[in-house]
Amino acid sequence: MEKRTFLKTGFFLSIAAVAAPMINACKGSEKSGKNSTAAPVIPPPKLRRTTPFSLPALPYPAGALEPHIDKLTMEIHHGKHHQAYVNNLNEAVKDTVYNEYELEDIISRITTSDADKKIRNNAGGHWNHTFFWQIMAPNAGGMPEGQLATALNTAFGSFDQFKTQFSDAAKSVFGSGWAWLCVGKDKSLFISTTPNQDNPLMLQIVAKTGTPILGIDVWEHAYYLKHQNKRPDYINAFFNVVNWKEVALRFDKAMF
Ligand code: MN
Repeated sequence: MEKRTFLKTGFFLSIAAVAAPMINACKGSEKSGKNSTAAPVIPPPKLRRTTPFSLPALPYPAGALEPHIDKLTMEIHHGKHHQAYVNNLNEAVKDTVYNEYELEDIISRITTSDADKKIRNNAGGHWNHTFFWQIMAPNAGGMPEGQLATALNTAFGSFDQFKTQFSDAAKSVFGSGWAWLCVGKDKSLFISTTPNQDNPLMLQIVAKTGTPILGIDVWEHAYYLKHQNKRPDYINAFFNVVNWKEVALRFDKAMF
């Protein structure tokens, strides 16, 4: 390849990598290997990643979700916990097939094997927290509008019934994990939970896959400083900071 052609190609690949929206890359539907005893074939990445994973800035100041989610919890959750997932992920992918994979490509391909465990936990941790910061906002909460509101009514009967079912799911997670609102392959909404840092985009791992549009972290590190052992209080507080505009954007993207 001529040097000039190479430079040009490299340039466009870099731009594409930066521009590729997280949610689009999450719609992959490779199913091979699930429930199979044979070692799964890991498809090559869509784009080759050339820079280490890094901690994204919070989309708002750490104290902006007060009084619902306190500043110190946000500082530690983002600056320490999320940072640790990023650091550990960079360490874990070294010398593995996933070394040059973008985050979404890792998430969709990661398997239940012991060898993948550290990458699974930390790639999930990085994706889940990046998502979590975005679906919350200051001066948010309330109720969704438009087609998302209609879809919630269709799926759950009413917004209040959705809220009850989602809260019950979040309360039911034993130990550490997440509760999700997802768009399924049939385009209907469903609620699910995952343990640890798994998420519904892990096609080789979770029973019911889908595109998450809302999620709540119910690890104790997400609420213990303010709410101690009272997870239900934290779940109620979370609904005061849900960024329904962002959730609706993700819903539209998954639906249309
Ligand atoms: Mn967390």
